[in-house]
Amino acid sequence: MIENRNFYIDGKWVAPLAPRDFAVIDPSTEEECAIISLGSDADTDRAVAAAKRAFQTWSRTTPESRLALVEKLLKIYERRAPDMAKAISLEMGAPIDMALESQAGAGSWHISNFIEAFRDFEFVRVPPGKASKDRISMEPIGVVGLITPWNWPMNQVTLKVVPAVLAGCTVVLKPSEIAPLSSMLFAEYMDEAGFPAGVFNLVNGDGAGVGTRLSTHPDVEMISFTGSTRAGIAITKASADSLKKVTLELGGKGANIVFADADKDAVKRGALHCFENTGQSCNAPTRMLVERPIYDAAVQTAKEIAETIGVASAHKTGDHIGPVVSELQFNKIQGLIQKGIDEGARLVAGGTGRPAGLNRGYFVRPTVFADVSNDMTIAREEIFGPVLSILPFDTEDEAVAIANETPYGLTNYVQSQDGQKRNRVGLKVKAGMVEMNGQSRSAGLPFGGIKASGRAREGGVWGIEEFLESKVVSGWAQDA
Ligand code: NAD
Repeated sequence: MIENRNFYIDGKWVAPLAPRDFAVIDPSTEEECAIISLGSDADTDRAVAAAKRAFQTWSRTTPESRLALVEKLLKIYERRAPDMAKAISLEMGAPIDMALESQAGAGSWHISNFIEAFRDFEFVRVPPGKASKDRISMEPIGVVGLITPWNWPMNQVTLKVVPAVLAGCTVVLKPSEIAPLSSMLFAEYMDEAGFPAGVFNLVNGDGAGVGTRLSTHPDVEMISFTGSTRAGIAITKASADSLKKVTLELGGKGANIVFADADKDAVKRGALHCFENTGQSCNAPTRMLVERPIYDAAVQTAKEIAETIGVASAHKTGDHIGPVVSELQFNKIQGLIQKGIDEGARLVAGGTGRPAGLNRGYFVRPTVFADVSNDMTIAREEIFGPVLSILPFDTEDEAVAIANETPYGLTNYVQSQDGQKRNRVGLKVKAGMVEMNGQSRSAGLPFGGIKASGRAREGGVWGIEEFLESKVVSGWAQDA
């Protein structure tokens, strides 16, 4: 059992001012696997004060020196990736091979992409057509509170910490209390890389405690949040009195429009993507919209995928899916599956209860519903479990209307071999991202949504700019 109640503040691991034990649960076994402490307002204040002090000097360091530290961080992260995979697998249940390749791998991918984006990054810019007299100076916003979820822990942490420190900000990270172990390891990497004291701080805690204190703190200039739409609204309100900048990456209910002329692997690819990470991805394509001529075949294919996908402990090697993260999520998903049945969707695979042979651990049966209509609860709410809803459509306009009829707008998907139709539909669906024919976005392009999915942009140049404010300087001396 891991016991680590300390926080990383001002370049040191320090004991909480008022310890409050919190057990981290291994979702594969339902056993306690670690004890951490939840921070108090006083712990948060201490971390913010350290970040505020450090900002005075860190914000004036050269971009080259900040880049050199991030390059060091990447080397450490890559060397210690197996430890990171173990921590993620234990705390949130990603199977160990997937935890190494995809979960820990997402972190190194983002760090490398930021390094690339930062090489040519300009802090003092010449505005178009105004070369002679004006400059735009991009300046770090100040102390930033970073609040992250449990589902892709290092994906989220690296998407926030790395661009913030490259921009010249100092940070206080509050990872999810459900999955704090990976972030505590990440703090060790930051320490080993040699970031100056106070640039990066970590305080564990929950939303009501550290999360709220960060959101209301007068010395925190910005909150960068990833998590549920519910918490995003609460943070926005809590931050209002101190007029912070708030960036939100929230939930999703992605539509995957599969036209009759889609490639032969489109349905399989969509179903596997929905079940990836046990359905716990904000950009999961959870609503599969299928054109009528291939509808029955698509339902059959999705059923076969759900019935052949392995479900097992996260500690086992292999390409199975693991448990969902917690008892709370398990119960919520069970309730939504039941609701799908009660509201008249046709259950074609899975259902309530655990998969055969798994009596302990938060394991959910990969589930497929057909004949779903867009007003059913399972089509409207983010389930965050391995549950796919299939909806038929007859025309392109109908497909676009169904896709857009949702409070969310994170990632939509289009499958068709007709390039003109694909491009047309890609531009019509409302979302921050559209992936077509299985092509995911290229390195350095921004991740983010619209509407109830939040309006932040993370990754690459866009992700760095989120942590900067622009200042117009006129009367610039050309010859200085
Ligand atoms: P959550 O909102 O419950 O918690 C996320 C974080 O916010 C945690 O650190 C939590 O302690 C904190 N928090 C909760 N309430 C708070 C409050 N009132 N004030 C301040 N902090 C608060 O979400 P979760 O269950 O950890 O994560 C799942 C959600 O995250 C899903 O909705 C998912 O779609 C979303 N998500 C979105 C993206 C994206 O980039 N759009 C990526 C990953 C996850």
